[in-house]
Amino acid sequence: MNERSSRPGRIVSPDDDQLGELCEQLGALSPSLEKPGAWPQQQLQLCAQYGVFEWFVEREFGGQGWDTSAIMRAYLKLSAACLATTFVITQRTGACQRIALSEDNELKRRLLPDLACGAQFATVGISHLTTSRRHETRPVLQAEEIPTGFRLDGFSPWVTGVTFADTVVVGATLQDHRQVLLALPTTLPGVMAAESADLVGLSASRTGPLRCENVDVPRELLLAGPVEEVMKTGAGAKTGGVQTSILALGLAASALDYLDTEVCKRPDLEPPTVALRCEWQSLCDELFGHLDGRRDCDHQAMRTRVNSHVLRATQAGLAAAKGTGYVTGHSTGRWCREALFFLVWSCPQPVLAANLCELAGISET
Ligand SMILES: Cc1cc2nc3c(=O)[nH]c(=O)nc-3n(C[C@H](O)[C@H](O)[C@H](O)COP(=O)(O)OP(=O)(O)OC[C@H]3O[C@@H](n4cnc5c(N)ncnc54)[C@H](O)[C@@H]3O)c2cc1C
Repeated sequence: MNERSSRPGRIVSPDDDQLGELCEQLGALSPSLEKPGAWPQQQLQLCAQYGVFEWFVEREFGGQGWDTSAIMRAYLKLSAACLATTFVITQRTGACQRIALSEDNELKRRLLPDLACGAQFATVGISHLTTSRRHETRPVLQAEEIPTGFRLDGFSPWVTGVTFADTVVVGATLQDHRQVLLALPTTLPGVMAAESADLVGLSASRTGPLRCENVDVPRELLLAGPVEEVMKTGAGAKTGGVQTSILALGLAASALDYLDTEVCKRPDLEPPTVALRCEWQSLCDELFGHLDGRRDCDHQAMRTRVNSHVLRATQAGLAAAKGTGYVTGHSTGRWCREALFFLVWSCPQPVLAANLCELAGISET
């Protein structure tokens, strides 16, 4: 086979057989992401070859412009195959969405085609405007308006793939509390990506802080603002949204598939497995019913229920695997650690409060 004919075709819908093919490869590679210092480079290259990054970008900028429902159906399958890779893709996509929402067509033409084909990697550093460091008196990343644009000083605490990014869509706060979103090139003088922390799970997301020491960002890289609560403008990158719940359900699906295989040998596992599968199905039906415009959905209430489900489903997998599952390297143990991520990722205060009440076994106050 020559190189051209051996290359995979682009996935054009969530029902495309090629998505199954890609998921199989991602699933087989996923244990390798547990190694120290791992980063899903090979997985992201595969995704680029299969055209995954095109889904999130409009046709005029080199993408396929999938609708949200199609993207979520694909995310459900991808996250069941490899949560770490899929999570990295969501942060990359969050950056693409924020760039796409800009009214500056020139900037979009400059950045989006290379993101659609996978030639560039972008990510987001916005949590300090929504769910991180909100109790601190001073914003952790400050912006000052200067004649040429904005000067940034401080840090963005959580940036996935921080040392691999060409562009970070970063939020910062002006002294008068208005906020800006900027497409920050990581090559600008004063931008420093710190080494990522060792995490309880998903260390391969290589999430760490991005420091900015008096970085002058040209005005043409302004994506939104200055305005109060800049993250409430536009439609992309909301906290506690459907995407987070879908990824949790993808992870839960891995644990349920494992339980299903065990049930064949151990009939005593059948009642809890069937109950969890029914709960999973009804959560999916509610979410996709909402995405397809057939029913309303309270995102935060849904997120709370999904968080509870993914924790219970993954722990049920571990319990079924017994001591063997508790040995490092067994998938059920990894899934349990990964499920904890949903307690802290993009978790708005009401979801956090509801999760804590459930853990305490009390009804919400
Ligand atoms: C693996 C991972 C990847 C992520 N990737 C990204 C990304 O790519 N981009 C992005 O923008 N974000 C990302 N996030 C951020 C995430 O969405 C949340 O914003 C983050 O988990 C919030 O945690 P925090 O510790 O910063 O919260 P904080 O609220 O800042 O809490 C920090 C500490 O402050 C203390 N504290 C909290 N509240 C109070 C209070 N009211 N009074 C006094 N003390 C308090 C607590 O001791 C707490 O431990 C990521 C997070 C993780 C874990």
